[in-house]
Amino acid sequence: MTPETIVRQYLGKIGESTKTLFSTENFNTHVMNTYGRFPIALEAGKGCWVWDTEGKAYLDFVAGIATCTLGHANPVMMTTVSQQIQKLHHVSNLYYIPVQGELAQWLTQHSCADKVFFCNSGAEANEGAIKLARKYAHEKLNIENPMILTAHASFHGRTLATITATGQPKYHKGFSPLMPGFSYVPYNDIAAIESAIAELDKETRQVAAIMLETLQGEGGVRPGDTAYFQKIREICDDKGILLILDEVQVGMGRTGKLWGYENLGIEPDIFTSAKGLGGGIPIGAMLCKSHCDVFEPGNQASTFGGNPFACAVALAVCQTLVQENLLTNVQQRGEELRVGLNAIASKYSHLFTEVRGWGLINGLELNADAELTSIDIVKAAIDEGLLIVPAGQKVLRFVPPLIVTAAEVTEAMDALGKAIANLVK
Ligand SMILES: *Cc1c(COP(=O)(O)O)cnc(C)c1O
Repeated sequence: MTPETIVRQYLGKIGESTKTLFSTENFNTHVMNTYGRFPIALEAGKGCWVWDTEGKAYLDFVAGIATCTLGHANPVMMTTVSQQIQKLHHVSNLYYIPVQGELAQWLTQHSCADKVFFCNSGAEANEGAIKLARKYAHEKLNIENPMILTAHASFHGRTLATITATGQPKYHKGFSPLMPGFSYVPYNDIAAIESAIAELDKETRQVAAIMLETLQGEGGVRPGDTAYFQKIREICDDKGILLILDEVQVGMGRTGKLWGYENLGIEPDIFTSAKGLGGGIPIGAMLCKSHCDVFEPGNQASTFGGNPFACAVALAVCQTLVQENLLTNVQQRGEELRVGLNAIASKYSHLFTEVRGWGLINGLELNADAELTSIDIVKAAIDEGLLIVPAGQKVLRFVPPLIVTAAEVTEAMDALGKAIANLVK
């Protein structure tokens, strides 16, 4: 059976058995209005495909926003979930949790980190990193008012500390007073960060940490510049500043390397992971080298953090990444995807300016004065059975599951080509 026939059979099954009555009005009556949702309702998935309540199939190049590492209804995840829920799903960090230790060991053996703290989301992992950096600054650097530098167009989460860390005014609006202790610099600009540090440290030393994404995801799929990050590492070493890397979106293999920093030839002192870590089961992690591990019992905690259920699934996702050699798939499919996107960008050169990305996180940028926005193209792609996600007004983001096949990349590019043709005719 070809993958297509399997998908078609599955489509038939879903269409017959789970077609349910769904009303957006009823949904909106009860759910807070915090998201701009596209008008489809999804209720089943398999591999890189999802189905809506009408039985229509979509090729999923969103993957829960770079989260469903192994796609939907993955057999290894299904087995792990059902075995672990029958064994033990949640206790508390009042006790030792063996599988939490196993997952931490896997992560430290496969990264530059020595220690791991588990939580539930990217924002929570970044909160942990910010707390760790502040405690380190007070205890080891004797800084009274520690400042953390972050980048313009960054994204670090939606809690108060992490919206403050996020260098985009649109996320701050309406939520003042923001947290003190953050200052912003342009991304990939070494002169700007050098002068920001000099300015902040003029009277007394304030700069405790620099927090950056190795590739800016939400901010427009902008890869970090190697020379920039290497210089930042040097500055941090010289001045004793901590380098925190937010790997929430690009870590766990998405770039074709396990961690984004491997693309830049540097190592952070602290880094965070979440989205892809559990393959869609909520889990986050804050990892650090032992020299900055200043937490003691009572400093940081999370009720659900590192529970047996989430850790067992994340461990299965990690092991599957290695066993199925998915990093190679990410590199090869990523190449093919960029070839396809470049073909579209040159066919419609009045619309698009650039294709950029690493592995399976890629962006297609619209011309600043193109009349279309990324949302227009996302909607047209939905009509053609392809799910993609904007990264700001002018960038389309392509983040399929890491198991995506060459045939699915081709199919996605065909659907995107048709969607754009419909819009420009
Ligand atoms: C998504 C994201 C976050 C926030 O993660 P949540 O799990 O939504 O809290 C933080 N940083 C980056 C780089 C992200 O892409």
